Amino acid sequence: MNSNASQHVTVIGAGIVGLCVAYALRKEGFAVRVIDPEEPGSQCSFGNAGAISAGSVAPLAMPGILKSSAKMLLEADSPLYVPPHYWLRAAPWLWRFVASATPQRVEEIATALTDLFTGAVENHRALAKEIGCPDRVVQTGQLHLYRNAAALDKDMGSWRLRERHGVKCERLDAKAIRDLEPAVSSDYTLAMFMPEQGAVTNPFAYAHAIAEAARQRGVDFVRDRVRMLAPHAGGWKVQGVERTYQSNLVVMAAGVWSAELLRPLGLRLPLESQRGYHLHVASPNIAIGRPIVFADRKVFAVPMEHGLRISGTVEFGGLEMPPTARRAEALGEAAVQGLPGLALNAPTMWMGHRPCLPDSLPVLGPVSRLPGLWCAFGHGHLGVTGSVNTGRWIAQALANKMPLERFVRYSLARFY
Ligand SMILES: Cc1cc2nc3c(=O)[nH]c(=O)nc-3n(C[C@H](O)[C@H](O)[C@H](O)COP(=O)(O)OP(=O)(O)OC[C@H]3O[C@@H](n4cnc5c(N)ncnc54)[C@H](O)[C@@H]3O)c2cc1C
Repeated sequence: MNSNASQHVTVIGAGIVGLCVAYALRKEGFAVRVIDPEEPGSQCSFGNAGAISAGSVAPLAMPGILKSSAKMLLEADSPLYVPPHYWLRAAPWLWRFVASATPQRVEEIATALTDLFTGAVENHRALAKEIGCPDRVVQTGQLHLYRNAAALDKDMGSWRLRERHGVKCERLDAKAIRDLEPAVSSDYTLAMFMPEQGAVTNPFAYAHAIAEAARQRGVDFVRDRVRMLAPHAGGWKVQGVERTYQSNLVVMAAGVWSAELLRPLGLRLPLESQRGYHLHVASPNIAIGRPIVFADRKVFAVPMEHGLRISGTVEFGGLEMPPTARRAEALGEAAVQGLPGLALNAPTMWMGHRPCLPDSLPVLGPVSRLPGLWCAFGHGHLGVTGSVNTGRWIAQALANKMPLERFVRYSLARFY
């Protein structure tokens, strides 16, 4: 019998990250239980843009971030907005965000993201094949569009950073853009194309397929809301609303909700929701072949299994504030400008909570002062991308096949 089988692991949260962790742990032979009050993949992992952006190794806070985004933060229609009532709450997070934008720290973060994202497209493709939905992960590349050279120059720091970290990037002129994506407006005259990037064609269905495959391999899925957890008899006691669960190990993978579950254990983390939106159009009247980013509006347009998804924007405001319909409408307006033939026929609107730490790195690995407690949350804008390797790393480390040192850069100790 596999010796890991005697180790029982409770994974808290069945988003794309918790599901990849649970699936990988089961493959290593662990006995695994996943607890979530909601259907697997139904929160932030439901409505994202599905891009597997392994080349997105530049953190959100680049040198000069204060100058480039200060005005934006105050404008309700801008791609990055903090409503007045939330400023006091957001201020400490924003302070850390700006403080992480030093050239040296940016290089360190890019190195850490490169490590986490290496092989993400291939590993997602392998996973999709293994669980019986090979067509759900595709490698189409990703196109970032600019109106002119001055706009591209402003982003050149992050493109150079990507190139330094081995990401393949090609500069395209207006003709090459039209050859690749005829539906794009001629207002966009320059682009950066990353041919090696991938995409999930239906994020919710993909999460569901991982959950189903995990269930078939013996992972126990429990519908319950975790209230608290505590060390108990050499392992962990996890108290849900319905009942109490015991296990040797716990992996916290509850996305943006992880911080409130860890706080009673004395772990205070600067984890904020960056609320993002999508408009999904079933019959858009145009076709595009790959995820497109309108860089000036920070808007993604992504072809999906059932239509076109337009997504993006960052809104602070926490977990309780209702969605702001205007932000989703602004996405539609930007997409119509970039794709003039687009028909916004009866779009559906969605808002989700990206779990974001100020340095754009997730929290991964063991909590040294609480043996048996592991973290896998805070993947921010790139949780689909990072999920597959997060799962593999945690499973391999717990199976003693990967050294724990690999987690040092992502440890929650960096906030203490
Ligand atoms: C508009 C938008 C576009 C995006 N586009 C992309 C993209 O193109 N590419 C990319 O890589 N990423 C993208 N992301 C980011 C990505 O969606 C997230 O990083 C990812 O979904 C986070 O996954 P998660 O499993 O950590 O969190 P979630 O999917 O939110 O899962 C957390 C789970 O924890 C559960 N939970 C909460 N509280 C408890 C509790 N007390 N007990 C038990 N369970 C609990 C929740 O019910 C939930 O199921 C996008 C996000 C948004 C909003």
